[in-house]
Amino acid sequence: MVQQQGENSCDCLVIGAGWMGLHAARRYAELNSQSSVVLVDAGRIGNNASGRCMGFVIDLAHNPRKRDFLEDIKGNNEELFVNREGIEYIRSAVEEYGVDCDWDPQGKFHSAATDLGVKDLQNFASALDRLGQNYSWVEKPEMQAMTGSKHYIKALHHPGTILLQPAKYLKNATRQLPANVMVHENTPITAIQFGTSRHICETPNGRIAAGKVIICTAGYLTRFGFFENRAIPLYTFASMTRQLTPAELAQVGNRHTYGLIPANSFGTTVRRTADNRLFLRNVYAYATNFKTSTQDVMRARIQQQVAFDRRWPALSSIGFEASWGGLLTLAQNGGMVFGELTSNVFGAAFCNGTGVARGAAFGKAVAELAAGQSSPVIDILQKRAVPSRPYPKLVTALGVRFLTALRFKQAGDEV
Ligand SMILES: Cc1cc2nc3c(=O)[nH]c(=O)nc-3n(C[C@H](O)[C@H](O)[C@H](O)COP(=O)(O)OP(=O)(O)OC[C@H]3O[C@@H](n4cnc5c(N)ncnc54)[C@H](O)[C@@H]3O)c2cc1C
Repeated sequence: MVQQQGENSCDCLVIGAGWMGLHAARRYAELNSQSSVVLVDAGRIGNNASGRCMGFVIDLAHNPRKRDFLEDIKGNNEELFVNREGIEYIRSAVEEYGVDCDWDPQGKFHSAATDLGVKDLQNFASALDRLGQNYSWVEKPEMQAMTGSKHYIKALHHPGTILLQPAKYLKNATRQLPANVMVHENTPITAIQFGTSRHICETPNGRIAAGKVIICTAGYLTRFGFFENRAIPLYTFASMTRQLTPAELAQVGNRHTYGLIPANSFGTTVRRTADNRLFLRNVYAYATNFKTSTQDVMRARIQQQVAFDRRWPALSSIGFEASWGGLLTLAQNGGMVFGELTSNVFGAAFCNGTGVARGAAFGKAVAELAAGQSSPVIDILQKRAVPSRPYPKLVTALGVRFLTALRFKQAGDEV
């Protein structure tokens, strides 16, 4: 999709085409079919954290970072409600518009490799019991048959999560956006002059005048003057093998695809993908100014090889075809940005870790808000805490580096 050039105008400009922005543009255009909507992204669609993610569309994450996760029945029910709205919106793109994305509604396996991991799973199970959620236990022999690996000793299967190929979804869903949406890739918004009736948004080769602006740029939202210094920029990293041969596939279990979430949140997430690859994620790193380096990616790749060898030692020599990182924007208090930031300027950002289902729900809801609508999801999101001010940058950077290294070490064989 072409870069923006010259002087343009539109009724609504959506900035950022990740899970949040893409769904905001779609929803605003659906609700206002006579309005012109422009969606811009600084890069190529799919080549962002949204497209580089593991593709778990999660209804309820095990969130040990939230102190009262186990007891917070209302909060967890609301989280489920919001995420399910996001899942349904993504599902409607797949079912109504035929968006191809390897949609796979098999749920997720929270998998433990150690006794401590099993304890984490038992804690998660008590939270699920309190919520009246269905789940089932998977014992070691079944895990071994499913994955071909002796590594896992137990898992908790929780249905409700969808697996998909994220970049494929984002690219194909962009092609299916309503006809009143114009998309420009490689078009960063470099500055905005906020006005009373029109906002003037600068791009490298021109300007876009917009009646409404919806900002969905993750931590970069702070660069437009909102929630300044409140984003904690964290990267996480992934590596993927080439397509496995039939002989190699025979060693990675009897299930064509699976998605394993580590019992310990600093452990390794694993997917066997629909196109016969293994795909691993681990390591968190503080990213000064939202940037990471090739060295960071290569350091993480070493940890991903260690994790791979723990699970499939006989396949170690395959190595990885590709490795990458992607930005997660956290807030110290877990708060997220949602709502009207100033007159006719709206924002949805700060995924705090998982942002696929949640991102789609936030994007859809922020567009509904911008269109003057109300909904139960909007009510929930407007009552949530906004990102708090973290400790000074240096203290936060040192603290995050120390804690991520410590927690990674403590995760032991769950990595
Ligand atoms: C390796 C990895 C695995 C993950 N796995 C999962 C998972 O399985 N499930 C899950 O729920 N979450 C997962 N996540 C987290 C998930 O990817 C994020 O929560 C989600 O992508 C956040 O979506 P977003 O739309 O808020 O932001 P982003 O995807 O970061 O999108 C923001 C967009 O804004 C654009 N932008 C920024 N500034 C500007 C500007 N000035 N002008 C124009 N455009 C701009 C960027 O180019 C970017 O495309 C994972 C993340 C990573 C890195």
